Amino acid sequence: MAGTGPISRRHTLQGIGALGTAALLDSAHAVPGGPSDDTPRGVTTNGRAHPAIVEKVFQTPLIDTHEHLIEEKERLAGTSHPRVQADDWSLLFSHYLNSDLLVAGMPKDLYDRFFSRETDPVDKWRCIEPYWPAVKNTGYGQAVRIAMRQLYGVEELSAETVRKVQAGYEQTRRPGFYRHVLCEHGKIESCQVNCLSGPFGESDMPTLLMQDLSIVGMFAGPSFNGFGKPTGIDVQSLSDWHAVIDWWFDKYAKYAVAVKSQNAYSRDIDYEQVPAEKVEGVFKRRLANESLSAQERKNLEDHLFWYAAGKATEHKLPVKLHTGYYAGQNRMPLDRLLHNPGSITDLCRRARETRFVFMHICYPHYEELIAAAKQYTNAYVDMCWSWIINPIAAKDFLKKYLVTAPANKILTFGGDYIPVEPVLGHAVIARQGIALALSELVEEGWLTLADAMELVDPIMHNNARRIFNLPEKSRILQNAPWA
Ligand SMILES: [Zn+2]
Repeated sequence: MAGTGPISRRHTLQGIGALGTAALLDSAHAVPGGPSDDTPRGVTTNGRAHPAIVEKVFQTPLIDTHEHLIEEKERLAGTSHPRVQADDWSLLFSHYLNSDLLVAGMPKDLYDRFFSRETDPVDKWRCIEPYWPAVKNTGYGQAVRIAMRQLYGVEELSAETVRKVQAGYEQTRRPGFYRHVLCEHGKIESCQVNCLSGPFGESDMPTLLMQDLSIVGMFAGPSFNGFGKPTGIDVQSLSDWHAVIDWWFDKYAKYAVAVKSQNAYSRDIDYEQVPAEKVEGVFKRRLANESLSAQERKNLEDHLFWYAAGKATEHKLPVKLHTGYYAGQNRMPLDRLLHNPGSITDLCRRARETRFVFMHICYPHYEELIAAAKQYTNAYVDMCWSWIINPIAAKDFLKKYLVTAPANKILTFGGDYIPVEPVLGHAVIARQGIALALSELVEEGWLTLADAMELVDPIMHNNARRIFNLPEKSRILQNAPWA
């Protein structure tokens, strides 16, 4: 099918008019008389996106390749879970937007009062009111506002609406709400969860909340308690520790979709291939709690990283690595991040058989990541988290990526959240960004409309299905012993 070629601004505006305006005016409800019930609610591309692209992008299922969601039953148990500080609307602010509040200057005592379970949920508005104008337009802020709009029908958080927000929170947080938020509202087919409370999460919803096997504690530290203890192996030597790593892969590799490490939060990902002989003594000293030099520690970690990466490759699991920007506040050393792109290409060169998934577009060094993905067969990129770090950078990244590197190696969405509600807001922002990136490529004449439409399924779900072997994983997970 031939494309229509570049489209004029006038044509775009006419085409998007009803949809865009209706979505803008009536964002909490389905648009009467709109093209379908699936119009992009809570968001508008303001006439800048092609209507056919918008409609397709907002109707197409997403595979969400990165989350930290706790289990639904843990959410329903309220504040007994350490990640649920208060079981009220402030929970939507507790992962990411809390950092913007602190960076905007919110004092610690006010911050603590806002997130406390002792504070009346209605009184919480007054805690953030002075800082809300500063953070409501960031990606973190917008994800939460879209979630409140779509789930609670609240257009703007304020003194007048805070009661409705809290009522919406309570009405939403009921048995079955993960499917309601993720599948019905978010049109998310499945998620890939990096469990934060152990190496692998045995989910009650194993085919919806698929899991990564965490490898970071296999090599960083390593984590004798977190990874060693559950195996029952009496660890006396490096080869015993190899057996510990083997144990985790034997038990969970067939159920996991990938392995994951966020080690880039404490060092560069410049893992060198260090032979076992060189670190056997170092491992024993680590086991005896003796102090190691920085170089000895690095050698040990590097050796164990490659041991775990080798096991992942043996089990056909991609290796997901955090790159770029840090969550939190007041701690990120940008000079360390500067080295991530060079290390990315070293990793790809050192292990040609290992498939690396570089996460978060290595923000702010996303241009370099496109270069790596263009050069290396085994470099895959995951845009998870990027749409709310910097929505415009993410849109530009996608736009540039698609005319530079092979389109079968990009994954366009991961919410990266602990609470489920803002995943919906993040997914809407991602869809808006994907629609804009594709529309701009068409409007600027780089792609035909047909080219752009053809890319939607691969970048929103088909790549993820293939890269992580999801149809087979789904079949295996249906029969998982804990399911
Ligand atoms: Zn994450």
